[in-house]
Amino acid sequence: MNYKEALHHPIFKIITKSAEKLQLEAYVIGGFVRDFILKRENAKDIDIVAIGSGIALAKQVAKSLPNKPKVQVFKTYGTAMLRYEDIEIEFVGARKESYSEDSRNPIIENGSLQDDQNRRDFTINALALSINNNNFGKLLDPFNGINDLETKIIKTPLNPDVTYSDDPLRMLRAIRFATQLNFSIEEESLNAITKNADRIKIITKERIITELNKILESTKPSVGFLLLEKTRLLELILPELTALKGVEEVEGQRHKDNFYHTLEVVDNISNHTNNLWLRWAALLHDIGKAPTKKFHKKIGWTFHGHEFEGSKMVYRLFKRLKMPLNDKMKFVQKMVLMSSRPIVLAQDIVTDSAVRRLVFDAGDYVDDLMTLCEADITTKNPKKFKKYHNNFKIVREKIIEVEERDHVRNFQPPISGEEIMETFLLKPSPEIGVIKEFIKEAILEGDIPNEYEAAYKLMLDKGKKLGLEIRK
Ligand code: ATP
Ligand code: MG
Repeated sequence: MNYKEALHHPIFKIITKSAEKLQLEAYVIGGFVRDFILKRENAKDIDIVAIGSGIALAKQVAKSLPNKPKVQVFKTYGTAMLRYEDIEIEFVGARKESYSEDSRNPIIENGSLQDDQNRRDFTINALALSINNNNFGKLLDPFNGINDLETKIIKTPLNPDVTYSDDPLRMLRAIRFATQLNFSIEEESLNAITKNADRIKIITKERIITELNKILESTKPSVGFLLLEKTRLLELILPELTALKGVEEVEGQRHKDNFYHTLEVVDNISNHTNNLWLRWAALLHDIGKAPTKKFHKKIGWTFHGHEFEGSKMVYRLFKRLKMPLNDKMKFVQKMVLMSSRPIVLAQDIVTDSAVRRLVFDAGDYVDDLMTLCEADITTKNPKKFKKYHNNFKIVREKIIEVEERDHVRNFQPPISGEEIMETFLLKPSPEIGVIKEFIKEAILEGDIPNEYEAAYKLMLDKGKKLGLEIRK
């Protein structure tokens, strides 16, 4: 492979010259090199290691660039960052690290390139390309990372037990890269992760979520969740999911394993949407099943109210993991709460009014809800599979039809409370709500169209029945 090809962007020559001026060596390292060799799209994120001060090099580079970009210095980490065009370049001085028990922040000393490669998380992330004039484009690969890229293996440069214990975030990174790249984790590494799983507690929730999100955003998220489960990390991070594991049998009646079912749903939905929050909804859609599971002699296993329970759990889970408690959380809650609604529609003949109610309750989320429910079909019975999908197709067509005709998606009552008050000379009172609800129900049932005239007439009828007098 000709590694010079990775370095054709003019920025590299500028860094070379700047390094020369400061009389230090510089290398491109990590993700950029890895992704070039894997032919992955990722030229926007460049890491430079300098044998000397990374901050000084960043400042020198910024001075040499036509637009003189600002250099962001992170003193505590000894790194500096600048943006050029659409590229983000991070500079760091080569370093040697040593760790203490209770923190993932090491004690840092200046070091050689090899020292710096030793402290990298994986062999495939320790590859460096020289951008120095004497050997421009030369690959420095002390741990044979090239071979691991070819055989698709994640392993650590040094002893995995020490590497993961030093910085437990690496456990999640290993699983995240395995998921993103479709690599396997070397057995020794996997054992070391399992052994050190408990150390995940020293990692901040925000960093954990960043990795979980990257796993969820991958083509096949189940790869990551299975590894998280296998290494005990999932139990520590998302016990709501591991609680779904297992099949119980009583009197010959079994329920499905809701953990593996959930992972199937997440993979399914990932073929249809890149919406991270819809993927979260798929991941959490059944979490209410663990606390609501019951066995009844006559009907077998039930999970009554699991959607409601699940939606409450979503809030607690988001809060615990310091995830946003804004409209994203509310969206996931709503998806979980409504996750069984369309399924009923898919099993039988669909009535207009059922569809109208669905659109009314789901509002703008109705399409996402349908996507979730289609992904939820994991039956292995081909006849049922086909039937459910077919019925959902009919539901989707009906949604469009009902939408065009009845406009119930963001329902605005055709008759306002004020109008009811004026018509019957009422002060604010319960009757107003009764009449409004009556009109809404009639529209959703399809008894009257969603129009002013029909609603007005119904209001008069209902008022009369309630014994209200019409203002003369
Ligand atoms: P991506 O940007 O796709 O997440 P990346 O490999 O560039 O992948 P970054 O988080 O940007 O990952 O980190 C850049 C490089 O820094 C990595 O390639 C790796 O060499 C090193 N690195 C990052 N985090 C760690 C860590 N926790 N322990 C050791 N080395 C790390
Ligand atoms: Mg990166």
